[in-house]
Amino acid sequence: MDYYSNARQRTIFSTVPNANFIRVIIDRAIHRELDYLVPETLAERIGIGSRVRVPFRDKSALATVVAVLEHSDAQGIRPIEAVVGDGPILSEQLLELARWMSAYYCCPVETVMRSLLPQVIRRAEVGWKKQLFVQPTRKIDNDELEKLRRRAPRQAELLAAINELEAPMLAAELLRKTSLDNQTLRALVKRGFAELREGAVPRDPHGDEQFILTGNLELNAEQALALKEVMEALEAPENARPILLHGVTGSGKTEVYLQGIRSALERGRSAIVLVPEISLTPQTVERFKGRFAEAQDVVAVLHSHLSEGERHDEWHKIHSGHARIVIGARSAVFAPLKNLGLIIVDEEHETTYKQEEAPRYHARDVAVVRAKIEKCVVVLGTATPSLESYQNAVAGKYKLTTLTQRVDAQQMPFMRIVDLRQERRKGKAAAILSEKLRAAISNRLEKREQTILFLNRRGFSTSLLCSECGEARNCPNCSVALTFHRHMARMSCHLCGHTAAVPKKCPACGKDALIYSGFGTEKVESTVSQIFPTAVVRRMDADSMTRKEAYRETLRNFRAGKIDILVGTQMIAKGLHFPNVTLVGIINADLALHMPDFRAGERTFQLLTQVAGRAGRGETLGEVFVQTYTPFSPSIQFARHHDFAGYFQQELEFRERCDFPPFKHAVLLTVRSAHEARAKFSAETLARRLKETVGAEFILGEPTPAPLEKLQGQFRFHILIRGEAIVRLSRLVRETLDKLPFPEDVAVAVDVDPYQLL
Ligand code: ADP
Ligand code: ZN
Repeated sequence: MDYYSNARQRTIFSTVPNANFIRVIIDRAIHRELDYLVPETLAERIGIGSRVRVPFRDKSALATVVAVLEHSDAQGIRPIEAVVGDGPILSEQLLELARWMSAYYCCPVETVMRSLLPQVIRRAEVGWKKQLFVQPTRKIDNDELEKLRRRAPRQAELLAAINELEAPMLAAELLRKTSLDNQTLRALVKRGFAELREGAVPRDPHGDEQFILTGNLELNAEQALALKEVMEALEAPENARPILLHGVTGSGKTEVYLQGIRSALERGRSAIVLVPEISLTPQTVERFKGRFAEAQDVVAVLHSHLSEGERHDEWHKIHSGHARIVIGARSAVFAPLKNLGLIIVDEEHETTYKQEEAPRYHARDVAVVRAKIEKCVVVLGTATPSLESYQNAVAGKYKLTTLTQRVDAQQMPFMRIVDLRQERRKGKAAAILSEKLRAAISNRLEKREQTILFLNRRGFSTSLLCSECGEARNCPNCSVALTFHRHMARMSCHLCGHTAAVPKKCPACGKDALIYSGFGTEKVESTVSQIFPTAVVRRMDADSMTRKEAYRETLRNFRAGKIDILVGTQMIAKGLHFPNVTLVGIINADLALHMPDFRAGERTFQLLTQVAGRAGRGETLGEVFVQTYTPFSPSIQFARHHDFAGYFQQELEFRERCDFPPFKHAVLLTVRSAHEARAKFSAETLARRLKETVGAEFILGEPTPAPLEKLQGQFRFHILIRGEAIVRLSRLVRETLDKLPFPEDVAVAVDVDPYQLL
């Protein structure tokens, strides 16, 4: 059954009046579209993008209508059971996007739908929050009021208030204001003076916050030029190329976005702003809500912490055209805005835009495709473009525009490289804080300036080894060492969450010879506190920030100067700015560098540049200390000199020489099973078959154990395929997989344009 080529022919997008048949994709991955009959009574309410309930096998299932047909050749066609929800929830453009994703990412369109439509919308089980509103039944004159007052003074008081209402009011709110009770209200209703009606009340996650309207800032010359590019593109979006806005940290990219959005709104169009989840801070939301505060609800915010009810309301606010700007993380790229004019992808290089479960899509790439489908403008903004986007700009597919200066005319921070090989000789603590970094911190403490210390690894010690027998404490489910967390006095696996007690003696040989080694943020925090006992040190990572409030609180205290030194993981690397931070220490720059991943260098370069952007935003010049065992690696050296062009050039040469992205696309197949032998055998069989189907045209790697051989109890094998014609490759891979009968306990994941190579 050749699903993909059929899907092409089936792109019937016009609504046919008086249709009797529909074609649907049901919410289960059956790799097929199915036809159903529509009873005449329901025909009016159905269009492309409607949700319906249909009989499927001996059950019923929810489905999305993808085409309305005049006739169908399907055998034994059955009628639908019901229409779900009020009307079509998917535009034709979004359906087209879904089909593109399905073909490109080698993934059934049903699975794509799961990302495209939030569950609360697909199921249509949660509705608006309904509450009772009160209103007068007629005008009551004074005589009547007086008469009532004599018999029932409290009812009269309430009635007087109701009488003055200009619009229906929430009953609960009126009772609160008048300090009267529900019984009094019920009595009035019974007497026919007032009536109660159910009405929808939006659940606005930002409802209790006030946003102060901010005006446009006057742009500097570079910003003005960037905005001009955006405006010109908005003028003729059908011919516009995606714009890559490469602006150093603090160059005022957000102001360009804000004014670009304003311009799109003025043209009657809407906008999406994508930011990495981690940057979706109250600060960010405030900047957007504030600029467009003239109309309430015009900005909708989508993120993973919304309740189902809030998500329902935000989604409908967008779908109904109420909200015209959507700001959100990855999946906001699917926001159902009409008349889309502009999509902004901030920090386009961020790997969190890639979804690590099916559909394994990259929101930046989906944004570019959606922009093409919707004929709208797309702006990719970043201080450190991904090699993919940069290469697209070099090749002329994207329009490059650059902001080279910080808004406050601040110099880029001074980067000092600390060679840990030399520090190592000076003693153990030196590997955490070199003498130079220690002196710099001490200097900042004297001047009452703030320091950020960055380490991308949580916990206290990263392994527990026996010095007698050499046994390490590994996770029983994954091929990694357990990390010791002092605050919970347990060991834990950062991949599967398994925890274990800390043994006193080596469980393997029974000797009292256990040694802790390797360190994470918890150890850094405690070391720093020991060296600077009077300083206020706080840690910010997934362990210390389990409460949502803790995160805001720590940031608030840090901004207020109540914290001297902030130690953290990438949580503190992105998008935050604190004018009083003049020192940033990168405790170990090599962590990212030595990953078995062709993007390791790129990530290190980005990380150093981003983290460095946190230093010296105020009056004083910032300083960055980079501690490393490999001081001469290119990504560290180029980052040190803020030399983007130099870095890109040498990295692109390397990628081209090795046939890596952006010159070739990659597809990573992961074969996994709880039984090692079966995973291995299946991977080998698959590789043999692939050799026949894709081997001639594409570069096919040997099946190898994954760098992370075992994860959550599953043994994993990788097959990497590279080539140029990615959609063709996706199709061939799918066809090959469909024909291979894998044992039940073997699973194969297909990742197109993979970012996780572990
Ligand atoms: P980026 O996103 O490029 O890192 P931001 O947009 O956050 O930079 O801008 C940094 C700071 O500069 C912000 O506080 C912003 O309000 C301010 N800013 C931006 N543009 C201007 C301008 N044209 N004039 C004055 N201040 C500006
Ligand atoms: Zn584990």
